[in-house]
Amino acid sequence: MALRNIRIMGDPVLEKRCKEIREVTPRINELIDDMFDTMYEACGVGLAAPQVGILKRVVVIDTTGEDPHVLINPEILETAGEQTGPEGCLSLPGKTGIVTRPNYVKVRAYDRDMKEYELEGEELLARAIVHELEHLDGHMYVEKVEGELMNVAGSDSDTDEEDGSAVLDDHAASEEE
Ligand SMILES: [Zn+2]
Repeated sequence: MALRNIRIMGDPVLEKRCKEIREVTPRINELIDDMFDTMYEACGVGLAAPQVGILKRVVVIDTTGEDPHVLINPEILETAGEQTGPEGCLSLPGKTGIVTRPNYVKVRAYDRDMKEYELEGEELLARAIVHELEHLDGHMYVEKVEGELMNVAGSDSDTDEEDGSAVLDDHAASEEE
């Protein structure tokens, strides 16, 4: 298991357009494995390569913990409906914001064998697909947030630097000085 560092908003790598993948080399395969490990470790449901500093068009998504998808050079074919709800990003830990997304998405992508396939998603899967694909073009969900970004109430219990209570308030912020 190899974890990679997740880049945080403000890192220029998150603002660039990623390049198409022509061939799944051993390095790309390793990248994909590491992206899954990194995503699961961070309790995320999706991760795009630029979030680990690699400007290639690949994302991994697993919204249930048992439904892993690799999308190489993905392209949205169809969207329908609308959903409005909270969204977060591993590149902006501790924050969440309300974003409206399509409720249904159909995407065409390549798998690890560079075989073309289509994936359809609704609700959370649709949201994750659209969110992750935007990373490949250098965009973050904060550009679409309705109203203000909010702090996530109560943080991860396995952050060992904090003592577990509400760490994302003014008190925590003042401790950084
Ligand atoms: Zn994200």
